[in-house]
Amino acid sequence: ATQEIEKAPHAVRRRVVLFPLPFQGHLSPMLQLAELLRARGLAVTVLHTDFNAPDPARHPELAFVSIHEALPHEATSPDADIVAQLLALNSGCEAPFREALASLLLLREDVACVVVDGQWYAALGAAGALGVPVLALRTDSAATFGSLLAFPRLRDAGYVPIKEERRDDELVPELEPLRVRDLIRIDGSDVDALRGFIARVADAVRASASGVLLNSFDAIEAPELARIEKELSCPAFAVGPLHRMCPGPAPAEHGLHVPDRRCLAWLDAHPPRSVLYVSLGSVARVDRGVFEEMAWGLAGSGVPFLWVVRPGSVRGGGADELPNGLDEGFRSRGKVVAWAPQLEVLAHEAVGAFWTHCGWNSTLEGVCAGVPMLAQPCFADQTVNARYVTHRWGVGLEVGDVIDRARVAARVRMVMAGEEGDRARERARQLKLQADQCVAASFALDNLVQYVLSL
Ligand code: UDP
Repeated sequence: ATQEIEKAPHAVRRRVVLFPLPFQGHLSPMLQLAELLRARGLAVTVLHTDFNAPDPARHPELAFVSIHEALPHEATSPDADIVAQLLALNSGCEAPFREALASLLLLREDVACVVVDGQWYAALGAAGALGVPVLALRTDSAATFGSLLAFPRLRDAGYVPIKEERRDDELVPELEPLRVRDLIRIDGSDVDALRGFIARVADAVRASASGVLLNSFDAIEAPELARIEKELSCPAFAVGPLHRMCPGPAPAEHGLHVPDRRCLAWLDAHPPRSVLYVSLGSVARVDRGVFEEMAWGLAGSGVPFLWVVRPGSVRGGGADELPNGLDEGFRSRGKVVAWAPQLEVLAHEAVGAFWTHCGWNSTLEGVCAGVPMLAQPCFADQTVNARYVTHRWGVGLEVGDVIDRARVAARVRMVMAGEEGDRARERARQLKLQADQCVAASFALDNLVQYVLSL
């Protein structure tokens, strides 16, 4: 009888409460995880901010509860410095999250654990203080998260902030193939603020998390995953690639943007592997000069292209208007859209390569689609991902530090039809097969559910 009483609370505690960070690259993997946990028999409540709130109508079987935060302008402005924005979001959401979670815990006895985005250090601490087990979902790669955990050591060894330019190309001990220049950095952000943010994230995970979830898989990051488990002494579950595991709505449906689906018919009219798909994700912005060199480079390459030019993604005069004087060839060969149904585009046989900023979602999506990539990292973890694309997995080429039209045209032709491009395409094909095998097995998700039920 005693045993039954001891077991009883576990038998009824079977709800998971999720708290995503309100940005595209974070909402999608969290909602994919939500659908996967629901499909495995767990009840799911999504706590969310009013800012960039997800659409509950797209997830009829999940419960949604807003935390009704009141945020300062710097937390929500697209012009805000990213580190300042993350700090403001954390401090502005801490109390509303704590109150919403406390109310939920009073209302429901079935909560097994909370999963918060790994950037929500304040929510990690708040959930821990309420005594409920909490897991952190990292939406970046294991390599990136590992490099953040190593930051204090790297700082002591003089790698961050970088003191001497000439160390840029030096390999970072314990983090190879990363060089000093590949370590996460955010131009324009205060280095101390960035370091402070990283330290808070790492401290919160160490102090409060009963485990870490990563949107990655063993075939691409086994040593990096092992290093994280060793460093944190808690389980790390590589539950990715989530967009492929997810049985629910198509991941594009999680979007904050409306995809222009007409580009799929445009792709239909092209031969296999003839089109370059160009997208720099949902956040990155480029200077007007870079944008123009990209346009002229695409024009000079002679390659058909589908280019996502997100409104507001170009800094400086002329906004996101195409440069004057581009020839008719450019306009008839290319299609420009404000937002694409990326997963369907990458899966389309007409797409021959993917020019990407190497956000982690886009990188994983490219890997799983088996397309070679042209890497143009802009900030944050994109440099880490780009280095893995080009130097660990061999599935892509760098555009290069300086974006000029002649170089762009040459790299585009190289990835579409050159020898290096062919090698990357073959490696991409192999990696896609490994991803397919991992999706078919999905051990990590089963292990995660068992772990959640044991908490
Ligand atoms: N995306 C999309 N259509 C676009 C551009 C991007 O659906 O035109 C999606 C893409 O599939 C990915 C996400 O937006 O899932 C971007 O996330 P990522 O981590 O690559 O970059 P971030 O936007 O966070 O920099």
